[in-house]
Amino acid sequence: MLYISTRGQAPALSFEEVVLTGMASDGGLYVPETLPEFSREELAEMAGLSYAEIAFRVMKPFVNGEIDDATFRSIVTEAYATFNHDAVVPLKQLDANHFLLEQFHGPTLAFKDVALQLLGRLLDHFLKKRGERAVIMGATSGDTGSAAIEGCRHCDNLDIFILHPHNRVSEVQRRQMTSVLANNVFNIAIEGNFDDAQAMVKASFADQTFLNGTRLVAVNSINWARIMAQIVYYIASGVALGAPHREVSFCVPSANFGNVFAGYMAYKMGLPVKQFIIATNANDILHRTLAANDFSKKELAATLAPSMDIVVSSNFERLLFDAYDRDGLAVAALLERFQQEPTALADAPLAKLREKFASYSVDDATILEVIREAHKRTGEMLDPHTATGYRAAERARADQSTPMITLATAHPAKFAEAVVKAGFPGVPLPPHMEDLIEREERYTVLPAELSAVQQYVAEHRR
Ligand SMILES: *Cc1c(COP(=O)(O)O)cnc(C)c1O
Repeated sequence: MLYISTRGQAPALSFEEVVLTGMASDGGLYVPETLPEFSREELAEMAGLSYAEIAFRVMKPFVNGEIDDATFRSIVTEAYATFNHDAVVPLKQLDANHFLLEQFHGPTLAFKDVALQLLGRLLDHFLKKRGERAVIMGATSGDTGSAAIEGCRHCDNLDIFILHPHNRVSEVQRRQMTSVLANNVFNIAIEGNFDDAQAMVKASFADQTFLNGTRLVAVNSINWARIMAQIVYYIASGVALGAPHREVSFCVPSANFGNVFAGYMAYKMGLPVKQFIIATNANDILHRTLAANDFSKKELAATLAPSMDIVVSSNFERLLFDAYDRDGLAVAALLERFQQEPTALADAPLAKLREKFASYSVDDATILEVIREAHKRTGEMLDPHTATGYRAAERARADQSTPMITLATAHPAKFAEAVVKAGFPGVPLPPHMEDLIEREERYTVLPAELSAVQQYVAEHRR
């Protein structure tokens, strides 16, 4: 199996190459050339297996024999042993036929752990095999940085440098990053804002000469391996609720579209899915596109669900590639127009998307209302991202008879500010993190200057 670019002009890559590569050289994103499909019997057999075993079976075709089965199985088993729940991503019933898929039992309490626990180990495996080292650089305003650090802290051949805006991330989020004292983890607090940090990371990818030939790797959701790892929990939760013998539906709090795109992959691979609901906060580009064919940028709004605060939804390109019948040049033309001015999708691709996808946008006031309401009705404390999903699932579901699975993307303790605003005293951190506030921290403060950051990276990489 090879991986091809959504813009049709970059070379096809093997699995190993696609894990080590971020964006394609033509500006597109990599997707599998063909998708593996599971028969009804193969899906039925997965019911009742451990999460790690389902993960092995679902991902094995994508790995394409480039890692031997025993090694891949142990990578997968190790990755999911870091979760604090035996089911890894457990289902919890909330209402009649409405379920939460709890994705926050990993080391940093948000769904990005599911992919990044695997990605760090895959990168380390391929680097060791090649006798190479690599540097990871990323900028974070919250969830991605800590999940990437946790995913890479044990990797011998990787050094990870995460930039965050100094004094501008929450204390819990900062400590989740800075209390990891592994000697390949470097936290840099930039005297600037998130955009400054991100601009320096982008510039470093564009001109890597400061690293003298060492590979620079991206771990954001354009990396195919992150999507691959996320396909697993759609299939695991689907078969737990009766697939392939009955259909299920999913509602996904969405930003860069990586999570819900993985669900769409699961559907294309044979999971019977009735409907996907895309939940957004006030940053509603996905909802505007689906509901009104308004494919345009809008100014960033800072919301109570900050991990969904985006202007552009990078992985949406992967879905567009399918909707445009895998015509890379048409996708490239559409996205170039989109960068310049408000635009719209062509009729046929939009109609195709609307067959499977619905959408709903939830503002901050409603997030608070939903947190209160859901707690009163079900006893469950939702985090603000999950709250957008809960409301979207209620309002946009096609029918009541198909089980609805809403993805609970973060633990409420991680976003206690919203919970307090909703009128609750707060949420305690789970027992294994209770001492987070006392843990020793390590980070370096640097000015928002590219040369200072690059010099620090060049000197400290091992
Ligand atoms: C990253 C994130 C999202 C958005 O996921 P995408 O894959 O970017 O759509 C939603 N909720 C939480 C808590 C996140 O950290």
